[in-house]
Amino acid sequence: MVSGSGRAGRAFLLTNIGELTTNVAAPGDACGTLRDAAVIVRDGRVEWVGSADAAPTDVPVVNAEGRAVIPGFVDSHTHLVFGSDRAAEFAARMAGESYAAGGIRTTVAATRAASDDELRARLAALVGECRAQGTTTLEIKTGYGLDVETETRLARLASEVTAEVTFLGAHVVPAEFAGRGDDYVELVVGDMLDAVAPHARWIDVFCEEGAFTPTQSRRVLEAGRAAGLGIRVHGNQLGFGGGAALAVELGAAAVDHCTYLSDDDVAALAGSDTVATLLPGVEFSTRQPYPDARRLIDAGVTVALASDCNPGSSFTSSMPLMIALAVREMGMTVAEAVWAATAGGARALRLADVGVIRPGARADLVLLEAPTRVHLAYRPGVPLVRTVWKDGAEV
Ligand SMILES: [Zn+2]
Repeated sequence: MVSGSGRAGRAFLLTNIGELTTNVAAPGDACGTLRDAAVIVRDGRVEWVGSADAAPTDVPVVNAEGRAVIPGFVDSHTHLVFGSDRAAEFAARMAGESYAAGGIRTTVAATRAASDDELRARLAALVGECRAQGTTTLEIKTGYGLDVETETRLARLASEVTAEVTFLGAHVVPAEFAGRGDDYVELVVGDMLDAVAPHARWIDVFCEEGAFTPTQSRRVLEAGRAAGLGIRVHGNQLGFGGGAALAVELGAAAVDHCTYLSDDDVAALAGSDTVATLLPGVEFSTRQPYPDARRLIDAGVTVALASDCNPGSSFTSSMPLMIALAVREMGMTVAEAVWAATAGGARALRLADVGVIRPGARADLVLLEAPTRVHLAYRPGVPLVRTVWKDGAEV
């Protein structure tokens, strides 16, 4: 759509934006909403933000024609590298079976058996799906290898498409270690961590009954931190547990799921830098109770929304769907949900230059086929993402 001249660099003016969500907080408006706005993009970064009337006109123009623009979505929790889907399991669950974490082992077997090219092709298709729906920053976890060789492969493949790679060797205890969880943890914090860490930025653990105990989780997270990785936690998804408390204690960037939280957990999160990442695609796809976002926000907890896109419990990459579910089912306002899916995700990844539209930020922008961001929740299931720019380039 746009090509910049050599002298001006790769630049364009996106103008006649009816509603611009900047996420530069203003009094009473965390979304930093501007009307009749314009943005200048140059060399992959936002250069200028302001009123359309005041915009310089010495660069090529893209006319938003009154539509809304938001920051690209920051999906801070996905599992996109895996060997095959689990459609039959989903159908069975919808027919009345309950979800257990052990279903992950089905995907592990398929992932170990898949070639790099097979995994890479599926990953590329899913990343394309994410981009087309407005996601410009993606975190991707390992966790379907659960042996040294396959976990390393998954991290390497994920690192080909994102800088936000998370080592989740402690996803579940693999079948060959059944009944020997502590032995598996020693493998995770030993040879597996050594092999995967060069490809990863983060370490994660599924701290949940049926997966890893708080003691085992602490061992994994502390080892990861000692290896230079940042910390994130899967916790409090299927019941009350120690995940959220451990995340806060260790200064994790995020604890994800947070469906079952005690009052102490909520208070601890509110007094911390740990983001509570809510994953309503899981509750939707498993018929579990939704987390109470209202309770968290009212207590002062920073909330992010993410897709948890994975073949078992939430096989959707749609951040607009997460916004719609958060508003309809979790007590969030539209503004809170859009913020959580953009700026909230950035906080959960401790990134300062995404999820926000201000000079110096990455030019990750989404032009909606809608006059306001409200339509993301108001028109669920409708493809409202018209144009996506990542680092200033149209996707
Ligand atoms: Zn997950």
